[in-house]
Amino acid sequence: MREIDLHVHTTASDGTDTPAEVVRRAAELGLRAIAITDHDNVGGYAEAFSAGMETGVEVVPGIEVSTKYGVAVHILGYYVENLVPLLAEIVVDRDRRNEKVAALMASDGLPVTYKQMKQRFGDVIGRPHFGELLVEFGLARDMDDAFARFVGKGMRYYVPRTIIDIDSSVEAIIASGGVPVLAHPFQYKKNDEELRELIERCMDHGLRGIECRYSGYGPEQSAYLERLAEEYGLLKTGGSDYHGSHKAHIALGSGIGGNLEVPYEWLERLKAVAGQ
Ligand code: AMP
Ligand code: ZN
Ligand code: FE
Ligand code: FE
Repeated sequence: MREIDLHVHTTASDGTDTPAEVVRRAAELGLRAIAITDHDNVGGYAEAFSAGMETGVEVVPGIEVSTKYGVAVHILGYYVENLVPLLAEIVVDRDRRNEKVAALMASDGLPVTYKQMKQRFGDVIGRPHFGELLVEFGLARDMDDAFARFVGKGMRYYVPRTIIDIDSSVEAIIASGGVPVLAHPFQYKKNDEELRELIERCMDHGLRGIECRYSGYGPEQSAYLERLAEEYGLLKTGGSDYHGSHKAHIALGSGIGGNLEVPYEWLERLKAVAGQ
């Protein structure tokens, strides 16, 4: 039986299930706890908490912040209590970027207005929403194609966001009362030495954990990350990065092809560090 999933997106960012739907799905799957880790915002908490009360699923408040360290590095923050101005600025910047993308698509004759997108998708819009529209318009075959040809880096509808540096991001999560954790460490294409450098750099600013289990990571990869976490005295976390139909191959709680399993014990340690 799968126990927990500490990396989940909802409609509060670019997932396709509402916070309540995600929690109910977790209950159906028999999960004990899930963390809501939407990009750059905490808008999903209230709904998720009440669904948690209804279903008995423990809901962990989290966030996923995109940061810059050569490549884009994601930092998860657990038990954040408030958004410090730095994090609020990221939301504003995302909005500015999205306005530009929508205007660019409109200038190509596509029936897109940012106002309508917000009405349909909510306040926090990401590239997967633009991808969904491109699929609907018949310009892209599917989400991967939309990223490969339109919204991925360097493509016509790619507009960069101003991403804050990794040091400030880790510090902002601490300042908001949260526990910072390095997300999906293999996504950054670093070798052992470079990954250690990244971890040590983040630790200098308060990093407390590493996401050791993640959709698509095999047993050797996870074991390596768990050894690193132990060596550095960091927490181990794990989660699927579930996005609903925006990443249809990833299942809540069990990842890709059932490869994911995260023990509740890891959450207990995380809670102790968070003072929960
Ligand atoms: P944004 O933060 O709006 O720039 O969009 C980045 C987000 O797009 C990432 O956090 C992922 O959730 C999502 N993403 C990136 N590549 C893909 C892909 N090939 N298919 C679906 N979603 C993707
Ligand atoms: Zn996402
Ligand atoms: Fe991420
Ligand atoms: Fe994520």
